[in-house]
Amino acid sequence: RISTTMSRIQQLDPHVINRIAAGEVIERPASVVKELLENSVDALATRIEVDISTGGIDLIRISDNGEGMHPDDLLLSVTSHATSKIRSDEDLQKVATMGFRGEALASIASISRFRIRTRRLGLDTGLDTGRELQADGGDVNINRECGCPQGTVIEVHNLFFNTPARRKFLKKPSTEFGRISEQFSKIALANPNLHLVLRHNDKLVYELPATPNQLERIRRFFGSDLGDKLIPVESKATTEAGEEIRLWGFVGDPSFSRGTRKDQYLFLNGRHIQDRSLQHALGEAYRGLLMVGRHPVSFLFLELPPHLVDVNVHPTKTEVRFQDGQSLYRQLLHTLRDKFLSLNFQSEIQVPT
Ligand code: ADP
Ligand code: MG
Repeated sequence: RISTTMSRIQQLDPHVINRIAAGEVIERPASVVKELLENSVDALATRIEVDISTGGIDLIRISDNGEGMHPDDLLLSVTSHATSKIRSDEDLQKVATMGFRGEALASIASISRFRIRTRRLGLDTGLDTGRELQADGGDVNINRECGCPQGTVIEVHNLFFNTPARRKFLKKPSTEFGRISEQFSKIALANPNLHLVLRHNDKLVYELPATPNQLERIRRFFGSDLGDKLIPVESKATTEAGEEIRLWGFVGDPSFSRGTRKDQYLFLNGRHIQDRSLQHALGEAYRGLLMVGRHPVSFLFLELPPHLVDVNVHPTKTEVRFQDGQSLYRQLLHTLRDKFLSLNFQSEIQVPT
């Protein structure tokens, strides 16, 4: 092997850095939708519209009525490791927003033709116009004043146009749209107070009006057949330091099971997560109530002080690390078992020894 660089270390150019980061977080169009929806939630939007063309490969447009960005921040928003959400290492110990890495927009912009229009809600800018930025594969070519409504509109055109290897792995548009719809559902279930719209190729797929009622949102999304089979559950636990851990939500009646675990949703402080241990606890709670190979449906919400969990363990933040996972396991198991006992499912439950 002939070394062409003489093996000297060089700092990578920002474009390359962003593309590497994109490789970790942006696997497919649905990943873009997830990141952009999370940003809109963090911007305290009450209404978000998602427009998709060709499974998100041609276009992903997310429009929100959130607080918008300061015009001077627009360029920073597509710069990596730039965020308005945390300032210090200390903040990292108690992340309360969906985002905090400041990498998503920089990553997405580096692998697409990207456009933001934004206008700040507040008067801190002293301006009544918005600002627009466009970038092509991370090269910013437009950054100018524009007229636009309050909030933010982000368009991602031709995702992966400059990363052919990644583009090759995309599935057909209907499959990619299915993944987008899954991401949309997670945000929709975690935020019933948000008015959400999803369109594909100009056709309305979902319009979910804001509701204070979690069950109502579930019904809208999954239909009344499932909604009628849900049992409400709730419990509170207290840590040694006196902090409250709240678990609540809805789980399926044993007569309403599934062949897969697909409809088991778990949210932690408004964020959809996956957790093997808690998934196991759920299965244990139904032991003796379901046939082998059948799984319950569940919509469970955990609320606990942010410093009791580390969300900074996985690039997409779907996996987290709980300070005391075992207590949570027991809380979930006992909450469900107590409920089932009170509903007289006990004759079928085999109490674990
Ligand atoms: P992060 O969410 O981790 O901060 P992002 O790259 O996703 O990083 O976004 C960078 C910054 O751009 C955010 O910190 C926020 O200040 C701003 N931003 C992104 N999307 C929006 C939006 N929809 N509304 C308002 N500000 C936004
Ligand atoms: Mg973000």
